[in-house]
Amino acid sequence: MTLARIALKGLALRIVFLGPPGAGKGTQAAMLTDELGYQHLSTGDMIRDEMARGTELGQFAKTFYDKGNLVPDETVIDMIKFRLADIEDVILDGFPRTVVQAATLDDELSKIGVSLDRVIFFRVDVEELVERLEKRREIEGRVDDEPEAIRRRMDVYNRETAPVVDYYRDNDRVTEIDALGTIEGVRERLTEAIA
Ligand code: ADP
Repeated sequence: MTLARIALKGLALRIVFLGPPGAGKGTQAAMLTDELGYQHLSTGDMIRDEMARGTELGQFAKTFYDKGNLVPDETVIDMIKFRLADIEDVILDGFPRTVVQAATLDDELSKIGVSLDRVIFFRVDVEELVERLEKRREIEGRVDDEPEAIRRRMDVYNRETAPVVDYYRDNDRVTEIDALGTIEGVRERLTEAIA
């Protein structure tokens, strides 16, 4: 089934994108949500927005974010929880990022009698990732794309987020895609994985 037909049939889709920093999750999520009219829920974007507005949550999150560390689970869960009650047709990007967050998401969804439709894992190679993140720093100037913060985020990914992939694998819920190469190439493989 093509994406257009998925949209036409009005199928509810709750999709999680998993993968290391710089794997292209945000880029692909933005393209897909534009095309399908789905919601794109990115906890990274939500945190950057809180920081830009200088809210209490933003100021607290900044002390972790700038160093490339994860913002504590309770903070992120508080921030996103109220959005989960109404989550049809949504792509979750950057959440869950720890096993605690993944278990909380399962609990919240089961309360409203739904479950995830797809968990897409973006498989990439670390060398290419570091290059991509360095390029992004030149273009977007994100503080957490500084070399030291990049290294930190990779460590944090391996320690905290890689186990989330295993958490979903245990239940056979993961579809893996090759996220190397061009944006268009990844998009095609992603479309196939979702349809
Ligand atoms: P990337 O995938 O390139 O790391 P994101 O925008 O998803 O970019 O995340 C940037 C930063 O935001 C993370 O390093 C972390 O500090 C914070 N963050 C985003 N999502 C979460 C989350 N679910 N739990 C904890 N921290 C998060």
